[in-house]
Formats: sequence, C-alpha cells, structure tokens
Amino acid sequence: MTDLGEEARLIAGGQSLIPLMKMRLARPVALVDINHIPGISGIEGRGGELRLGALARHAEIEASAAAAAIPIVHDCAAGIADVQVRNMGTIGGSVAEADPSGDWGATLLTLETRVVCVGPNGERTVALEEFVKDAYTTVLGQGELVREIIVKIPPAGSGGACVAFKRSAPVYATASVAAQLTLGDKDTVADARIVLGCVGLVAIRAQEAEAELRGKRLDEKTLKRAAEAARAAADPQSDMRGSAEYKRTLVAALVKRAVGIAARRARGEKVEGGHEYAAR
Ligand SMILES: Cc1cc2nc3c(=O)[nH]c(=O)nc-3n(C[C@H](O)[C@H](O)[C@H](O)COP(=O)(O)OP(=O)(O)OC[C@H]3O[C@@H](n4cnc5c(N)ncnc54)[C@H](O)[C@@H]3O)c2cc1C
Repeated sequence: MTDLGEEARLIAGGQSLIPLMKMRLARPVALVDINHIPGISGIEGRGGELRLGALARHAEIEASAAAAAIPIVHDCAAGIADVQVRNMGTIGGSVAEADPSGDWGATLLTLETRVVCVGPNGERTVALEEFVKDAYTTVLGQGELVREIIVKIPPAGSGGACVAFKRSAPVYATASVAAQLTLGDKDTVADARIVLGCVGLVAIRAQEAEAELRGKRLDEKTLKRAAEAARAAADPQSDMRGSAEYKRTLVAALVKRAVGIAARRARGEKVEGGHEYAAR
C-alpha cells in the first residue's frame, strides 16, 4: 500500500468509495481490496467488550447475537440504508470514512469505543473521540487501516437507542440522535450520552442536553429541557433534506424519542427502536 503512493485507496464494501468514484469525486490510482485479509471480520463479545472486526458487514452486525447485547449497536446496523448496502458495507469502512451523515459515528460516540489501527509503524489503539479529526478526516496515516472496533459493554441498568429521520431507506438521514443512558436509584439518570448526527460537520456530543438529564428523574419537563438543549447544540445547514430550522426541530423531537426508548430499555423492557421514514 505504501509503495502505491498517497493516491491509492483501500476498498472494503465499496459503498462509499464506489459512488464517489462514479461521480469522479475520488480518482484513486489503485485500489487495494482488503476483503481477503483473514481475521478482521469477526463479531465477538469477550471480557465485557464487544469486538467488531473492520470487515464486519452492517447486516452481519444486525444479525449478531453478540452485538444484540448493546441494543443501540443493533439499531444502528439495522437502520443503515437498504439490504444491499447493509450486505456490503462494513463498520471499518464507515468509521474510516468519517462521513458526518454516517450512522456509526454518532452511535459509537455514545459508548466507550476504541479503534484499533494497523500500519507500517505497527498497531495503535485510539479512542473514537480522537480518531475522527473532522468531516471525512481521521488520524489514519498512509498505509494504515482500521483492524477492529472495540466497544465497552455498558453496565447493568443501561439502555440506548439510535433514531434517525430519513426521507426513504436508501438515503442518509435528515437528522439522527443516538442516546445512551444508565439509570440509578429511583429511576434517576446516573449517566447519559447524547450524540447528534447529520446536523454538523461532525457528529455533535450534546453535553448540555446530557447535563439536563444527569442526576434527574426522567419526567416530561426534564426531557423537554434536554430536547431544547440538543436543539441549541445542533448546527445544521439548509439543504435538499430540509431547512436548518426544520432540522433543529427534528433534533428536539428525536431526542425525546431516543431518550424515551433508551430509558425503557434501561429498565429491562424489550422495545423496538429504529429509524423513521417520511416515505415507505
Ligand atoms: C445508497 C447508499 C445509502 C447509504 N446510506 C447510509 C446511511 O443511511 N447511513 C450510513 O451510515 N451509511 C450509509 N451508506 C454508507 C455505507 O454505510 C457504507 O458501507 C460505509 O459508509 C462505508 O463502508 P464500506 O465498507 O462500503 O467502505 P468503502 O466504500 O469500501 O470505503 C470507504 C472509505 O474508507 C476506507 N476504508 C475502508 N475500509 C477501511 C479500513 N478497514 N481501514 C481504513 N480505511 C478503510 C476506504 O479507503 C475509503 O476511503 C450508504 C451508502 C449508499 C451507497
């Protein structure tokens, strides 16, 4: 890979790279297919962690019993685009692409996530917060690839949900919210993480919204304050998916929905979560 120079690209599922090449927005001089590298496609729960090989397909994660231990991970995998994209696209490709509209970035930021990278200088493990530097930009160096994504399994009393609003299945979301909660005594929120997708140049951690929840009982007033704080944290652009104001309103509604599902799951209820579609 290093010998091929900076214009060579790795290819995994091809679901981001091939469309970019078709639009002539990417013109790699060589493609290095990583699909034949053994040992980087497993999905395994071990030692309190979920280990996702870079080549694990969205559809494989959706169907995985090990991944189902973290419901928000299942939601995310199941909600990406359509069956074709989910059958081909990989979690490693998604994380490496760092597309601000991608679902994995926001979802994995609600959890303690590390990215294992391998390159000419050996192996290193980077916290996801540090891995993504900007839109479409990561810390990966020339010839370096993502080998594995490691997610800490949240403690008992935790639940999460990833909810996106989409115009239709095979398009990126207009806005999305990933929420992960841990409930403590008397149904108070011991910990909360809320991350907004598609409404900024990178996934946005809505820390003020989290602070509105932490230490409080989850009633309508608390949820409303958190939703308003998230609306303020969103930084969307007006585009073909909707106006900036529409997206902010959507964020507030999605926060209420995601936190509501997360809380019910944290209490042990089996609740279906997932994406909302304007058209079916
Ligand atoms: C119609 C359509 C709709 C979509 N909708 C959504 C959606 O709603 N939500 C969503 O999250 N995604 C969506 N996607 C994107 C999809 O999830 C892709 O699978 C994903 O973004 C990239 O994964 P990939 O394996 O296909 O990567 P590729 O396209 O093969 O590669 C993407 C980039 O990552 C690099 N790369 C790939 N693997 C690695 C690795 N292991 N280490 C280092 N670099 C690597 C490549 O060099 C390339 O630059 C959509 C795609 C399409 C075509």
